[in-house]
Amino acid sequence: MCGIIGCVGRADTLDTLVHGLSKLEYRGYDSAGVALSEAGAGGDEGSLDVVKCAGKVDELRSALAGRETSGPVGVGHTRWSTHGPPTDANAHPHVDCTGRVAAVHNGIIENYQALRDELSTGGHDFLYDTHTEVIPHLAEAGLRDGLDPETAVREAVSRLEGSYALAAVVAGEETVVVARNDSPLVLGVDDDATYLASDVPAFRDFTDRVVYLADGEFARLDAEGWTVTNTAGEVLDKPVET
Ligand code: GLU
Repeated sequence: MCGIIGCVGRADTLDTLVHGLSKLEYRGYDSAGVALSEAGAGGDEGSLDVVKCAGKVDELRSALAGRETSGPVGVGHTRWSTHGPPTDANAHPHVDCTGRVAAVHNGIIENYQALRDELSTGGHDFLYDTHTEVIPHLAEAGLRDGLDPETAVREAVSRLEGSYALAAVVAGEETVVVARNDSPLVLGVDDDATYLASDVPAFRDFTDRVVYLADGEFARLDAEGWTVTNTAGEVLDKPVET
């Protein structure tokens, strides 16, 4: 089983992500990676910083050593390879052609070949072996059509058949967009930060208040907190449990 961690609102995003990944190691994995969204300055649309490698979280720590990575929003992943060997390149997060969208994913995209063929015909370049790569490219297409990041990710998810827990960040956006179908995801909520993970231990050192997502639900994490919606986009009144 792979593991997902994400957070919005912490000053030490990178350390929080790596700590969360270490708490998910019990699930088993063969690769690890993180993506942070860096805010733009002076009209710059911002950037994504993606670091990933085959191997253990300690190897990711080594790859990250000395990096000036300070974005306030990020996602991380421990991968258990199902499609494509456990290489640095196939590790998550995966990005689109423009490097604006990064996504982490647990599960199986059953219609990935049809989506990949369609996207390739539309000019998208696929560089890796894993089916997950269709997700950022689908979101990229939505952004190119003028959709806002959350809608672009929702539209991408609407094309997927299979199982997924996924989280996506867009360069310069202080938002994580999350979707779940047949793979676990839970939010951790605190007064000034919000987390998402495959399992509670990933953020248990920071908060004990949780919101469990159900199949077909989406969440948006941003500086204002968190919102859960259904596939129709209706806001759901989800209980916060301790
Ligand atoms: N199946 C995906 C991959 O091989 C995600 C990892 C998983 O869910 O096991 O990259």
